[in-house]
Amino acid sequence: MEINKLILDDNLEIQKPIESKVKRILFLILFSAISFTTTSQSKDIVLADTTQGIFILINKTYSLPKNYIPADLLKMTEKYGDSTKMIKKETYIAFKQMHDDAKRDGITLWITSAYRTYNYQKWLYDRSVNRNGRVYADRTVAQPGFSEHQTGLAIDIVSARGKSLTVEFEKTKQFEWLSSHAHKYGFILRYPKDKENITGYRYEPWHYRYLGVEIATKIRKSNLTYEEYYNQFIDNK
Ligand SMILES: [Zn+2]
Repeated sequence: MEINKLILDDNLEIQKPIESKVKRILFLILFSAISFTTTSQSKDIVLADTTQGIFILINKTYSLPKNYIPADLLKMTEKYGDSTKMIKKETYIAFKQMHDDAKRDGITLWITSAYRTYNYQKWLYDRSVNRNGRVYADRTVAQPGFSEHQTGLAIDIVSARGKSLTVEFEKTKQFEWLSSHAHKYGFILRYPKDKENITGYRYEPWHYRYLGVEIATKIRKSNLTYEEYYNQFIDNK
């Protein structure tokens, strides 16, 4: 089904992705807009290119329709993560391998958050706005339709059930292990430190994005954010 126009709850108009050359120029304009507006929601919003598969870019500019549900969602087992939650099959296979190898190094990795529905994201965002106000909410929680978690390709990692998501995670041996090894399993740290002006989000040492080994390794070596990498190498083909 082709979606030409969608109106979100907040009446932001979403346009259909356009031809690739124009899109690249548009991206550069939007990209500068994100850099300047930093944490606030981008004013120019387009639908994400879902034909990019696991390379899809979701951020404050590129969004998913309310009815987007990824294929191949699985329930996790408690050994690897929260068994009440779902994850995309490819992400899960890669994580299980990473988990088992980390375990052999004496490191426990556990997924506390993976796939989220549009409605669950809406609930999380509204709760954050009610608790902390809109400005803080926009730095920390994606608006519904703008979360990578809706793709099933993003995971939040903790050391055990019940651990909360805080920047303290960067001081753990889990984080140290992930910093050296995550890319070998296809994961990148999606919201690195001091890149809020590009990604639109505060540093999140717990949030990893599955991109496959090749791209994750290239990003790790280049030190680019996914926004920058996507613009230069993926959307440029
Ligand atoms: Zn996350």
